[in-house]
Amino acid sequence: MAIAPSLLWAQPLIEVHDTIAGAKAPQQVALTLDACTGAFDDDLIEFLIRNRIPATLFATKRWLVNNPQGVAIIKAHRDLFDVENHGENHIPAVIGQGRRVYGIPGEPDLLHLRREVQEGAKAITDMMGIAPRWYRGATAEYDTQALKEIKQLGFGIAGFSVNADAGATLSQAAIQKRLSHVKGGDVIIAHMNKPASQTAEGLSSGLLALLRRGFVFVRLDQVDLRVVP
Ligand SMILES: [Zn+2]
Repeated sequence: MAIAPSLLWAQPLIEVHDTIAGAKAPQQVALTLDACTGAFDDDLIEFLIRNRIPATLFATKRWLVNNPQGVAIIKAHRDLFDVENHGENHIPAVIGQGRRVYGIPGEPDLLHLRREVQEGAKAITDMMGIAPRWYRGATAEYDTQALKEIKQLGFGIAGFSVNADAGATLSQAAIQKRLSHVKGGDVIIAHMNKPASQTAEGLSSGLLALLRRGFVFVRLDQVDLRVVP
């Protein structure tokens, strides 16, 4: 049976799940924080600095441009924070006119995707002095065509294994509960762009509990990732 041309682009969405590859210590975990659009969660970043917890920050160009105070604080703590690529304008990496993920329109074509990825990387290099090697698309959902293109542009896809704050929508108690299930090798995703959310509170108590249990935090510029089903 022939596939109607209008359906050719309707590839299924893929959410990439990763854990740390060949973790040197069984208790290694990676904290990743997305800076999509919006503001700077000062409480969250100050908590990480006070407690010496390293993290990988996925920033868009738009967030970097709009949050100079946040950029300055991160730059002053490069020993703790790696900054990686979350795109130029927070456009999901799905291709096809009219496609949306969680209501956010995707890319009309490959050229637009390329620009999103490359301009995101350039902003990080220009503003942070870091050449990013990881990409996480807006919403962390992809289609197969976009995944292939991003890899061809030279980026690893940064998935995750524990969704700690569901887009900064969860309560402190719910975030703490999710973090209580963390295992060695996990890659945690949460958000640093919504200071009005309970993410800072939830991560603060949840991460302190992980530290007490002996977990060691690593950044994605120090490890490789392995896709898990
Ligand atoms: Zn995002």
